[in-house]
Amino acid sequence: MFYVREKISDAVEVIVEIHDDNVFCTCPGCGCEVEINLAELFSDDEGDLYGTTVYCQKCSGSRLEGRYE
Ligand SMILES: [Zn+2]
Repeated sequence: MFYVREKISDAVEVIVEIHDDNVFCTCPGCGCEVEINLAELFSDDEGDLYGTTVYCQKCSGSRLEGRYE
């Protein structure tokens, strides 16, 4: 089991288990919330939590359209 631990104050600490349905990032295109599949993200052996950005479906769609125009 993996989890995130964040100390809020001296008295409060939050521990959240990481599952395949509770990991999100912010789309760099429009700022909306994007659900991340970590297994998929790391499956190419280049998974990098700092250097990886994931576009939402709408933005990745328009990026692809732009690429092939
Ligand atoms: Zn977007």
